[in-house]
Amino acid sequence: MTKIGCHPWAKFDVDPRIQKIIMQIKHASYFSGITSKQDGQMKPYGDGRDEVALLNRKKYFEKVGLDIDKSVAVNLVHGIKVARVDQNYAGQIVQDADALITNVADLILTITVADCVPIIFFDQVNKAVGIAHAGWRGVVGNIVSNVVEAMQENFDTNQSDLTVNVGPHIQKCHFEIQNDVADKFSDYPKSIVKQDGKIFVDLQSAIKHQLTSIGVQPQNIEVSDECTYCLTGKYFSFRRDKPEILLAMMAYVGLYSLHG
Ligand SMILES: [Zn+2]
Repeated sequence: MTKIGCHPWAKFDVDPRIQKIIMQIKHASYFSGITSKQDGQMKPYGDGRDEVALLNRKKYFEKVGLDIDKSVAVNLVHGIKVARVDQNYAGQIVQDADALITNVADLILTITVADCVPIIFFDQVNKAVGIAHAGWRGVVGNIVSNVVEAMQENFDTNQSDLTVNVGPHIQKCHFEIQNDVADKFSDYPKSIVKQDGKIFVDLQSAIKHQLTSIGVQPQNIEVSDECTYCLTGKYFSFRRDKPEILLAMMAYVGLYSLHG
């Protein structure tokens, strides 16, 4: 992100018409992304092991021109709770939630994933963003509808204005489950794939179904087809790597501000 600071735009001899367009674009825009394996382990544990994650986060944010002090992390618990955050949360780790929402510009909402699904929400009318972490428990618990409801209550979001981005995660090619978990997907029969005596779950199709059921427009839902398990060189995968300590990528979202 380019910081404008106290330098007047005119100093750069920008045509006022172009300047206005840039301002409009920036006002309407959000930034988001996901780190890769090369960027290192990003999960903060809230203890001594944090040093590596914090260093990796700092390096990454510097690389993409973001300020780590504006970032908010969350201690994920595979639940369905949504936390609204503002500038008071900058640099903090929110406890016991799996989704964050805000309408404060420049804050960077972050979660970590290593097979679970990162989901990003953007309301361009009311200028608000959200991010959720969903493993199979979060999907069964319908965390995405909790995020949409929280955005409606807090920011007057209309679901038909929402853009939703479902990021890289373990896809049906590799997410094998047993009968006990498959039973929990009884509301989403199309998400269960049986093949060669094995059962696989298609998390993204269940998420898409949940989003469209509450009025998010199908054309506003973008889904990544990247599988974290398949892409050995690019992503950490908990199921593939079976590490003693979870190594995870960071997904993030924030609103641009003109007053950086
Ligand atoms: Zn795969």
